Amino acid sequence: MDFEYTPEQEAFRVKVRAWLKDNFPPELAIDDPMDERIAPNREIFEKRRAWQRKLADAGWVGLSWPKEYGGGSANLMEQIIFDDEYFRARAPVLPGYSGVSLLGPTLMQWGTEEQKKKYLPRILPAADVWCQGYSEPGAGSDLAGLKTRAELKGDYFIINGQKVWTSGAQYADKMFLLARTDPDAPKHKGISYLIIDDMGSPGIEVRPLVTMSGHHHFNEVFFDNVQIPKENIVGPLNEGWKVAVTTLAFERGIAGGGGHSAQVRRLADLARRVEIGGRPAWDHEWVRQDLAQFLIECEAAKYTRLRSLTRRLRGLPPGPEGSTLKLVGSELGVRIARFASELLGPYAILGEPTPLVPDAPRWQSRLLSSRQYTIAGGTSEIQRNILGERQLGLPK
Ligand SMILES: Cc1cc2nc3c(=O)[nH]c(=O)nc-3n(C[C@H](O)[C@H](O)[C@H](O)COP(=O)(O)OP(=O)(O)OC[C@H]3O[C@@H](n4cnc5c(N)ncnc54)[C@H](O)[C@@H]3O)c2cc1C
Repeated sequence: MDFEYTPEQEAFRVKVRAWLKDNFPPELAIDDPMDERIAPNREIFEKRRAWQRKLADAGWVGLSWPKEYGGGSANLMEQIIFDDEYFRARAPVLPGYSGVSLLGPTLMQWGTEEQKKKYLPRILPAADVWCQGYSEPGAGSDLAGLKTRAELKGDYFIINGQKVWTSGAQYADKMFLLARTDPDAPKHKGISYLIIDDMGSPGIEVRPLVTMSGHHHFNEVFFDNVQIPKENIVGPLNEGWKVAVTTLAFERGIAGGGGHSAQVRRLADLARRVEIGGRPAWDHEWVRQDLAQFLIECEAAKYTRLRSLTRRLRGLPPGPEGSTLKLVGSELGVRIARFASELLGPYAILGEPTPLVPDAPRWQSRLLSSRQYTIAGGTSEIQRNILGERQLGLPK
C-alpha cells in the first residue's frame, strides 16, 4: 500500500494551499471545524455566503460534482486533498453545505431535468441555501413514523405539521422535506420527498432552539396550510423513502467529523503547559497514555476512511465504513472533550481566552457540543444496530 501522494496530487495540494492562503479572509477563521457549523448571527452568515460564492467562482465548490452541473469533475482524491487543506486553513463549514453535499447529489439521481436545471446551478455559489426537514417531535430514529401531511389538491400540495432540529432554518432560502402523502399506506410507503421554494412562504413559522452552549444552531419549523406546486416533488409520489435514503447515505458518508488528530496534538501541547497536582500534566502517565490512545484511534479512523475511499475508487457500493466512521468518530469526539476537561480543569469551562490557555473557548465549546454529533444524522445506537444487523448478521 502506498499512502504517498502522486506528483500530480502533490501539485494539486500545493495549488489549493496557495489559493486558500491568498483568498481566505482571516476574520472568518474558526478554531475547530466542528464549531459553529451554522453561523452565530446573520452578519457572519452573509460573510460566509460571500466566501462560498468566491470559492465557487474559483471552481472549488462541488469539486466532485459532474461538470455538466457546474462541478469540477475532480476525482475523489482531489476532493479529499481539498477538504484536508480547507480545514487546515481553519475555514468554516460552508453555509450551503446541505445543498452541496445532500440535496445536490440526491437531485442528480432522482430529480427531473427541470428540477436539475432550476436548482443545481444555484447551490454551488450559495445563491440558495437549503435546510433539511426530516426529523419531527415523534420521528427521529424512527423517521418513517413522521406525521407532517402533504395533501395533493389540484395542482398543489398543502402541507401541515411540524419539523424539529432543523439546522440553519433561520437562514435557509429553501427546504427539502419528507411528508406523508398517503396516511393509509404502511409507514415506509406513503411518504413523499418535497421541495419548499421559499422559506418565507405564508404559513411557515421558524422558531429558534438554542443549545446549552448558547448557540442558535437549529429550529422548530411549523407548517400551517403551506402551498407548494405539485411539480416540487422529487421522485415518485409516495416513494419518497427511497429518495430520503439516498440523502441519508450521503449524510453518513461525511458525518462523524474529522479534525480529531489536530485536537489531540493541541492537547498534547497544552499538557506540557498546564499543571495537575502541582506538576506538569505531561508528567502523569495517564495523560500520556490517553493522548497516545486517542492518536491511535485517529489513525485507525483515517485508514477506515481510506478503505472506504478505495471502495468508491473501485466503483464498489458503499460498505459499512460510513456507519463505522460515524459511530467511532463522534464517540471519539466526546471522549476527547471529556479528557480536555480533566486536563484543563477550570480552563475548559471558560468562554474567554486566558494567557495560559488562549483557546479556552474552544474547549468549552467541545465540552458542550461534542455530544451532538453522536445524535445528528443517526444516533450511535442506530449505527450499532445497523452494524450489528447488516454487518455482523446479529438478530434484530
Ligand atoms: C446537531 C444536530 C443537528 C440536526 N440537524 C437536523 C436537520 O437539519 N434536519 C433534521 O431533520 N434533523 C436534524 N437533527 C435531528 C437528528 O436527525 C435526530 O435528533 C436523530 O435522528 C435522533 O432522533 P431523536 O432526536 O428524535 O431521538 P429518538 O429517536 O427519540 O431517540 C432517543 C434515544 O433512543 C435511542 N433509540 C431510538 N431508537 C432506537 C433503537 N431502535 N435501538 C436502540 N436505541 C434507540 C436513540 O439512540 C436515542 O438515544 C439534528 C440533530 C442534531 C443533534
